[in-house]
Amino acid sequence: MTLLELEDVTAWYGPVQVLDAVSLTVPDNGAVGILGANGAGKTTTLRAISGAVRAGGRITFEGRDIRGMRPEQVAGLGIAHVPEGRGTLGQLTVRDNLRVGAYLRKDRRGVASDIDYCLDLFPQLKDRISSSGAALSGGEQQMLAVARAIMAKPTLLLLDEASLGLAPSTAKNVYEAIRRLRQDSGIAMLVVEQNANLAFSLVDSATVLEAGRNVLTGSSAELRGMDEIRRAYLGG
Ligand code: ATP
Repeated sequence: MTLLELEDVTAWYGPVQVLDAVSLTVPDNGAVGILGANGAGKTTTLRAISGAVRAGGRITFEGRDIRGMRPEQVAGLGIAHVPEGRGTLGQLTVRDNLRVGAYLRKDRRGVASDIDYCLDLFPQLKDRISSSGAALSGGEQQMLAVARAIMAKPTLLLLDEASLGLAPSTAKNVYEAIRRLRQDSGIAMLVVEQNANLAFSLVDSATVLEAGRNVLTGSSAELRGMDEIRRAYLGG
């Protein structure tokens, strides 16, 4: 079954059109990648879904039209966005960041057990549980951003450049944890990632964007190693 569907989605920043016609489908429990050079429109696509930018075209989630909804409404439907640059709350402790992630939930026991799950998934955070977000390393902040999103118990996770600015070994750890999360929970994912190897380690299929349009869509097995993919990453 289809969980999320975008059909010919458009978006502008002021007079500048950055999404021309983006289409993609995320099946239930699926993980789909959005690849492409800098400026291709990957981040904007995620922002169009989560209601952070106004979009045209069709965006449906669980069969319901969500285009034009406010970010809080979209979050309330079960879509959690881990933005580029992480967006963790620096002045709050790790524990409070996790609690903030769960603010829409009423099941206190579920929240407590999900905090335990997050600390098991990212053991580094356990050691830093009372540290402020601002005191964490870049890798720890990325882990916290993902953990905070998990705390909302979403059906769909929008993940933007989780490897950005991290040492290769740290980025690998983060992706291993996200793979485990996927196995454990079946949470669906839409993943923007500049590092194709990391992306293909997680997603089942992907679409390549160029200037706000899909230029190529296929399974990870099909796309891995294709010349177009390499060109997309070289910005060509
Ligand atoms: P990157 O990897 O650099 O984030 P991207 O594929 O995610 O690339 P977007 O961030 O979606 O691309 O940006 C698409 C285009 O929109 C780019 O040309 C970018 O310069 C422009 N853009 C992004 N944010 C804004 C903004 N707030 N105001 C104006 N233009 C913007």
